[in-house]
Amino acid sequence: MTGLTEQTQSWQQLDAAHHLHPFTDNQALGQKGSRVVTHAEGVYVYDSEGHKTLDGMAGLWCVNMGYGQQAVIDAITEQLKVLPYYNLFFQSTHPTAAELSALLAQVLPAHMNRVFYTGSGSECNDTVIRMVRHYWASQGKPDKTVMISRHNAYHGSTMAGASLGGMKPMHQQGGLPIPDICHIDQPYHFEEGGNQDPETFGLERARQLEQKILELGEDRVAAFIAEPIQGAGGVIIAPDSYWKEIKRICDQYHILFISDEVICGFGRTGHWFGCQYYGIEPDLISMAKGITSGYLPLGAVAVSDRVAQGLLSQGGEFNHGFTYSGHPAACAAAIANIKLMQEQDIVTRVRDEIGPYLQQQWATLADHPIVGETRGIGMVAALELVENKVPRTRFHKDKEAGMVCREHCIANGLIMRAVGDTMIIAPPLIITRTEVDQLVATARKSLDDTWRSLQ
Ligand code: PLP
Repeated sequence: MTGLTEQTQSWQQLDAAHHLHPFTDNQALGQKGSRVVTHAEGVYVYDSEGHKTLDGMAGLWCVNMGYGQQAVIDAITEQLKVLPYYNLFFQSTHPTAAELSALLAQVLPAHMNRVFYTGSGSECNDTVIRMVRHYWASQGKPDKTVMISRHNAYHGSTMAGASLGGMKPMHQQGGLPIPDICHIDQPYHFEEGGNQDPETFGLERARQLEQKILELGEDRVAAFIAEPIQGAGGVIIAPDSYWKEIKRICDQYHILFISDEVICGFGRTGHWFGCQYYGIEPDLISMAKGITSGYLPLGAVAVSDRVAQGLLSQGGEFNHGFTYSGHPAACAAAIANIKLMQEQDIVTRVRDEIGPYLQQQWATLADHPIVGETRGIGMVAALELVENKVPRTRFHKDKEAGMVCREHCIANGLIMRAVGDTMIIAPPLIITRTEVDQLVATARKSLDDTWRSLQ
C-alpha cells in the first residue's frame, strides 16, 4: 500500500476493515488493498490514483451505453423528484412500470408481450423457477418441476440462481444445488471437444438434454435454462449445430426453454436478444444488466404469450414479488436507456459496424505465441491462453496464467477478465473504432508481458 495517496490508503483501510467483497478472497485483498474506482466517462474508468483504464468488461457486462449518459441520469433524477418509490403489489402500478412494459414488448421477440420485474438477474432466475412450476401446475402437471441447466453455466448467486448455475466452486459452498435441479455438459469445444469436429460435438452435447429428459421422464421435467453465450463461464460459444437441436428437443418433449439474457440481452450480440442471433424462440427470457446499462438495478422476466395465457387462465394470485420489483427510478433509467439505444440504432451498429470491426481486430491476436484460439460474436469475445499451440497444451495450473495476464492488462490500462486461462472482454457497445484499436493493442502488449512473465 506504499506510494499511494493518503486518501487512497484511507479508503483501502476502511474497506479492508468493514467490507466483505463478492467473489473475492477478502483475506488476501486486505493485504493487497482494493483498487478504488472513483469516476467514469464513456468507456473509461478512473481510480483514486488518477489511472485511466479502458473498461473492456463494461463494468460487469452491464454498462452497454457507456458511462456518463446524461439522458439516463436526468430521467432517474426527475423520477426521484416525482415518485421515488412505490410498489407494484396488490393491484397498483406506476407510469414508468406501465410504459417500460410496453417498450420492452416492442423490443422483445414478437411472441413475448408481458414482463415480471425483479431487482437483479439472480432474482429473475429465482422467479423463473417459481413461474414455470406454477405454469405447469396450472396446466394440470404439478409434477413437472425439474429444471435442467448446464455445468459451468452462471445464473446468479441466490440459492436458486447458484443452483441453476453449474459453477462447482459455488456448489461446494452451502450444499448446492437445491433439489430438482440437474446439469448436463456444456458445448465448450476448445476445452472439451478433443479431436471431434465442432458440429458433431455440438450435436452430442445438445443430445445430452434428450438423454436427461428420457432418464428423468418427460412428465417430471419443467424447463431447460441456458445462456445463448455462456458469459461468466468463459464466453463459450456453442457450435452451429447446437441450438437448433436443443430447440427440437424442447419442443418434442414439451419442455419450456428459458433464455438467460442477462449478459446477451440489449444489443451485445448485434440483436436485441441473443436468442434472436440464433433464431430460437424462448418461452421465458431473464434480463437485467444492460436493461438500464447498469445505472440502477433492475431485472425482468419476459413471458411468451402461451405461457402468459397459461398463467392467467386459472385466475388466482402468483404469490411472488420483491419490494423493489419495477422500482420507479430503475424503470425510468431503463426507459431512457432503451430510447437512447433506439435513437442511436446501437443494435444495428453492433451487428453491422462496430461488432464486425471488434471481431476482425480481436482475431488478429490469434497469431500470438500464447493464444490457442480467439472467438467472439458482436461485442463479446474471448481468447484461450496456451503454453504450446501444437500440440495444444495449457500452462501449468500453478502458473495462474489468466491472473498474470489480467494483472498485466490492468497495469497497461485495460480491464480484461480472466476465467481460468480464458481471457474475456465485453466492452460498452458505444466504443469507437479508435478505442477498439487501443483495446486490441493493449491486449497484445499484455499478452507479450504475460509470455515474458511465464518463461
Ligand atoms: N444470469 C447471467 C447469465 C449472468 O451473467 C448473471 C450475472 O452475471 C446473472 C444471471 C445474475 O445477475 P445478478 O448479478 O444481477 O443477480
